[in-house]
Amino acid sequence: METRFEVLTEEDLDSERARKILREAGDIIKAGGLVAFPTETVYGLGADALQEEPCRKIYEAKGRPSDNPLIVHIGRWEDIYPITREVPEEAKRLADAFWPGPLTMILKKSDLVPMRTTGGLDTVAVRMPSHKVARQFILESGGYIAAPSANRSGRPSPTLARYVKEDMDGRIEMILDGGQVGIGLESTIVDLTEDKPMILRPGYITREMLEQVLQKVEVDRTILDDASGQAPKAPGMKYRHYAPRADLTIIAGNEDAVVAHINEKVREAHKEGKKVGIISTERTMGRYEGDSVKNAGSRDNEETIARELFRILREFDDEDVDVIYSESFEESGIGQAIMNRLLKAAGHHIESI
Ligand code: AMP
Ligand code: MG
Repeated sequence: METRFEVLTEEDLDSERARKILREAGDIIKAGGLVAFPTETVYGLGADALQEEPCRKIYEAKGRPSDNPLIVHIGRWEDIYPITREVPEEAKRLADAFWPGPLTMILKKSDLVPMRTTGGLDTVAVRMPSHKVARQFILESGGYIAAPSANRSGRPSPTLARYVKEDMDGRIEMILDGGQVGIGLESTIVDLTEDKPMILRPGYITREMLEQVLQKVEVDRTILDDASGQAPKAPGMKYRHYAPRADLTIIAGNEDAVVAHINEKVREAHKEGKKVGIISTERTMGRYEGDSVKNAGSRDNEETIARELFRILREFDDEDVDVIYSESFEESGIGQAIMNRLLKAAGHHIESI
């Protein structure tokens, strides 16, 4: 299959060309095809959420395990009602505060949503993205787009369209290129089907932000702790994710000690003829002796780190580094989402010094 590639940014959405492309993208979806599109979190791989066969194709194109459910994306609030059995008060309050935006809610599903979409669960994950290209594309496609991240299963989620192309060229009908995404980590997932709201995946919308709207929000303890022995409540979270090809180890501790320790590791690796990649931050990047030292961003503004993390992991693949060492991040605010992804990418390999 030939994959069509079209640049379409939020700024030129009103042009005649943009409207034509979006209509054609919508037609591809209605005919059962796959279209990758930008959102504010990461690029999504979209199909009609209400049809079985297109959703099956998503799993095939990604190489994704079939018990890992998809998030259903909507473009207007009222579209939530047909796909759910009930919309609790909490969902309305969260939507008021954070939709459109990077928040996914788990609700009880209606019969309209095929089991293929929800990985066999009787609940459905719903999100209304804020990215204008995404919302317009959803509306042009009939209103319900099932979309996981547009990467091959296990690889870092794509934050640029060229990474979608790398993974999906020849497997899908179309890629919409909206430039680099704004947030860079997938949406926060909150489950509203149990007694208490619970975060199943941390993201840009933090626990603190959710608790300003809902009284108390629990956090699935498997999010940062691999040793709990429990299965994560979001089925997809049990799989190895975001992994670069090289072995990644996180080094935690005070700044000077971390720099010294990582440089020691670099020297050892060099003796074995290995190429080393390092994930550093603005303040420390000049102090490392690695072969490829990446500046993930500023610790004073961790949103910059969220935006760059997946890109850096992919660049290490392109540069064929043999081992990667990363600094560690705070586990509060957006730092919790950063650490969650980094720990997964590292297979939970972290050394505290
Ligand atoms: P991705 O689209 O690749 O970001 O993955 C979507 C995530 O949402 C996966 O980790 C899923 O397990 C999770 N998810 C989707 N639907 C549900 C659901 N009904 N219940 C719990 N988690 C879900
Ligand atoms: Mg994903």
